Amino acid sequence: MLLADVAVPVPVARVFSYAVPQELAAGVRVGARVVCPFGARRMVGVVLATREGEPPGRVKSLARVLDTEPALPEDLLAFLRDLAAYYFAPIGEVVRLALPPIDREAAREVAAPSLFGEAGGVGARRVQWVAPTPSVEDAGAVRGQAAAILAALRASGATPLARLEERWGNARAAVKRLAETGLVLVEEREAPADPFFAEPSARDEPRDPTAAQAAAIEAIAGAIGDGRGGTFLLHGVTGSGKTEVYLRAIAAARAAGRGSVVLVPEIALTPQLVARFRARFGDDVAVLHSALTPRERLEMWRRLRSGAVDVAIGARSALFAPVRSLGLVVVDEEHDSSFKQEEGVRYHARDMAILRAHRVGGVCVLGSATPSLESEHLARSGRATKLRLPDRARAQPMPRVELVDLRRVGPGPTGDRRLSIPLHRAIEETLRAREQTILFLNRRGFAPSVRCASCGRLATCDSCSVALTFHKGASAVRCHYCDYEAPLGARCAHCQAEALELEGLGTEKLEETLASAFPGARIARLDRDVATGRRIEAVLERVRAREVDILVGTQMVTKGHDLPNVTLVGVVNADAALSIPDFRASERAFQLLVQVAGRAGRGDVPGRVIVQTHDPEHPAVAMAARHDVDAFLERELADRRELGYPPLSRSALVRVDAVEETRARAACARLVEVATSSEGARSGAVLVQGPAPAPIARLRNRWRFRLMLRASRRDALRAVLASIEAATGTLDRAVRAAIDVDPVQLL
Ligand code: ADP
Ligand code: ZN
Repeated sequence: MLLADVAVPVPVARVFSYAVPQELAAGVRVGARVVCPFGARRMVGVVLATREGEPPGRVKSLARVLDTEPALPEDLLAFLRDLAAYYFAPIGEVVRLALPPIDREAAREVAAPSLFGEAGGVGARRVQWVAPTPSVEDAGAVRGQAAAILAALRASGATPLARLEERWGNARAAVKRLAETGLVLVEEREAPADPFFAEPSARDEPRDPTAAQAAAIEAIAGAIGDGRGGTFLLHGVTGSGKTEVYLRAIAAARAAGRGSVVLVPEIALTPQLVARFRARFGDDVAVLHSALTPRERLEMWRRLRSGAVDVAIGARSALFAPVRSLGLVVVDEEHDSSFKQEEGVRYHARDMAILRAHRVGGVCVLGSATPSLESEHLARSGRATKLRLPDRARAQPMPRVELVDLRRVGPGPTGDRRLSIPLHRAIEETLRAREQTILFLNRRGFAPSVRCASCGRLATCDSCSVALTFHKGASAVRCHYCDYEAPLGARCAHCQAEALELEGLGTEKLEETLASAFPGARIARLDRDVATGRRIEAVLERVRAREVDILVGTQMVTKGHDLPNVTLVGVVNADAALSIPDFRASERAFQLLVQVAGRAGRGDVPGRVIVQTHDPEHPAVAMAARHDVDAFLERELADRRELGYPPLSRSALVRVDAVEETRARAACARLVEVATSSEGARSGAVLVQGPAPAPIARLRNRWRFRLMLRASRRDALRAVLASIEAATGTLDRAVRAAIDVDPVQLL
């Protein structure tokens, strides 16, 4: 009997066997999607293997094959299997990460459209483009709006009609008149399925690389060209021109007939970076943006799968893009923690990028101005080659960083200690020079907490052990961990006293304070409350167009933006990032400070950075102020080694939660027992810590416990994890347990 092993998208760590009916035998190939009965439902799974043999018991038969050509190529499938094994993740859920989203929605549907050829109802969108005709005919008779439109078209070339309409309300009528006189042509084009298609992407030409860029490009291109592959850590200071290196590396891969994947932390925050890729490679780049509709995503996916497009750029999930003959994976801002997925399959896209490239003999480039300790360790242990861009590309000096010791320095004219005299004066000077300021404050909302002056307790979320944040605009308190929101009552929930006081400073309040301190200034805010997705790009666009004098924001303002007129960066409170209970707090704080400082002085005027802190001697703060990345890495690696923390050890976190505290605690204790009685723990190769309550003890109404495992060798750790995984199946059914290999988020 012909059997097929199928990955079914359910949270169970095994494959399911099905009988293959005679009439389907020819179509059931590895990587193909099939419809299979599962319990009372029918689901879409992916074939992992076929074999002749006796069924392991009663098996059901496959109902249908969806693809004429396998949806997932074998190399991608093999990578997914490795990933599932590494993270102890269910193969069905891992495979699903690589399928286009329309499938995920249709995962339980039987009539999922084919991914190849004419897709049922998934046609490409067509849009109208307006192009100037080549003849420079006399346009003297054209007046008003039509004349302006014609001039714009002649300057920038063919443009979507929709874009003209954004600028000129009556564009449609004017274009019609222009078309009648033969001055423009209106044509229907297939809309490239990504939202950037409307951006006029003037082709840019590669610029002459600096000597450091040239050396990096040569090393990377060489490894792609001769098929050696390998991992490179591109350590380039902020503004050193890492992007040009990526662009040249992609060109080298294309010249060798190989495709590329570029991972960026968050695509909405990097419209400029994306624009540069499109300017260089035009429509040969698939931009996997979260603003795409499922249909557009499917279209992108198909183009990559067919090889029509050979470069994919996107956030962490672009790791799974079905790029043909992959030769290069770039991870920009590799230190960014958004590359770690914190739900479902908890994978780290940076680590898996190395694996994916390695499997195909390709090159992985990890780029950062502040390398993660993990990548630095790879380089020091010879598993990655370090390439350096020590200077800014246009030879601008690094910005001067001043530390303001909040213990000694008083408030400026506002009387608010968090707007110190030096920061206040610097903002004034920057405004006067008509330059721009970025102020970074890592708390959104108006007041991060609300305290009762009578009993002293904080207002907390009903379902989480988390303080509620007051949002003035919404006139409500919110929990930043669940969706809880309520009007701020007059009385304390604990003692009923009418004595609630707002505490602390959030971006919303900072914006208000600035508005009254600098009445003429145009102020904008960038955080999750004001902007998501495309609206982030709109805020950044206003800053770029110099319609904003002061940009206030959370870590969203620290990411790679290249804003040449920003000459002042203020860090309102450098200590906040240091106080998080996490062994990486110091590393994070350092990265944030260096990154945000790197936004200053990227144009012709030198930049200036003011960092407010209560602890100017803290190594992360002091070394960031000197831009001394190497010294920080050196010191932090030594600390990690001494304490036995990653990357000098291997770690895994087992998270256990339940609605009832006692059940969660008991289940966690049970897993600790399994771990401590294992061979690895008894021999001392694996260190077991727990059961312990998580720092956020309760979240979304569930109590959280955990156990932490650490080992110097991965195989020892894996053996213990395997026994824990086996034991999770025997736990109280009210309890959820999840294994997190190489954990990042420890809260
Ligand atoms: P990074 O990502 O390393 O912070 P970018 O790639 O954003 O730096 O480059 C910083 C600036 O330097 C950009 O404005 C870019 O156009 C410019 N640049 C990069 N390479 C060169 C070069 N070889 N010559 C001139 N300008 C360059
Ligand atoms: Zn909550």
